[in-house]
Amino acid sequence: MTGWYTAPMTAQLIDGKALAAKVRDEVKVQAAELTSKHGRPPGIAVVRVGDDPASHVYVTSKEKTARELGFGSWHHHFPATMAQAELLAIVQTLNADPLVDGILVQLPLPKHIDTNLVLATVDPSKDVDGFHALNAGLLSQGRPGLTPCTPSGCMRMLKEIDFDVTGKNCVVIGRSNIVGRPMAMLLLNASATVTICHSKSDVAAEVRRADVVVAAVGVSKLVKGEWVKPGAIVIDVGMNRGADGKLSGDVEFEAAKERAAWITPVPGGVGPMTIAMLMQNTVTAARARLTR
Ligand code: NAP
Repeated sequence: MTGWYTAPMTAQLIDGKALAAKVRDEVKVQAAELTSKHGRPPGIAVVRVGDDPASHVYVTSKEKTARELGFGSWHHHFPATMAQAELLAIVQTLNADPLVDGILVQLPLPKHIDTNLVLATVDPSKDVDGFHALNAGLLSQGRPGLTPCTPSGCMRMLKEIDFDVTGKNCVVIGRSNIVGRPMAMLLLNASATVTICHSKSDVAAEVRRADVVVAAVGVSKLVKGEWVKPGAIVIDVGMNRGADGKLSGDVEFEAAKERAAWITPVPGGVGPMTIAMLMQNTVTAARARLTR
């Protein structure tokens, strides 16, 4: 008997932890090749201002990963009272340092510092976060440049499951410069049909017709499982810390996984990919500088 019953679907997980390990292995090989060919490893400098505990965790993890991959790695930490002019001078010193291929200014910066001015001061060829307006412009024109790490990680996940976004309805929820906008541009550059949602959008209506949903909002479980189109791919960028200390995503995971074909968990999904892609960007920046 066929045709009257469709078994409920349980999504396959896209394992960000395993994929990030694979990316790191690839980057390690590329870094070793560059080191043996050019006599020095790729180098990344991280600048941190103030004592934000989350920033401390991220920076420690970035440094550890960089060292494991054989990179040169420098961490410059300054008090929250640091003057903006001093920070700009540090960035300019790193711009001029021939051993530094990648500069990362950990955000958020203290309120008295103009974040846009600091990001604009980073040499675009060393902008491994991909936040400089020049790199954002190149991305929006579909030209090569350094692209933000979290959206690049999401694209790598789609590649890993061998999903071709050409002509597919891809809905990105969130329009931040760090995730939503560059994510939409990467999808558009890969010939997807892209919709960007934000706080004024009818998110439910857009998600219902999406072949791919990328949620980058910062509101726990905003995307209801019942909105997900059967067979869709759900990528959850959200990292929301509950009162119980537990992390949750922007998607109602348990319900969504009964309808999606593929879904990323939180934690263990997009999160681990970000640092791996940062390391990939650093090797890309190093290669471009060493071979020009
Ligand atoms: P953000 O700068 O606060 O941007 C959030 C976006 O979501 C905004 O565009 C906002 O719309 C939109 N939004 C807010 N409420 C909404 C609603 N009810 N319906 C629809 N859209 C809504 O955040 P972000 O930096 O992009 O980060 C988003 C999430 O990703 C956070 O949970 C963050 O922790 C996580 N994140 C994870 C990683 C990672 O490595 N996994 C990296 C970066 C960020 P408006 O523009 O209209 O205000």
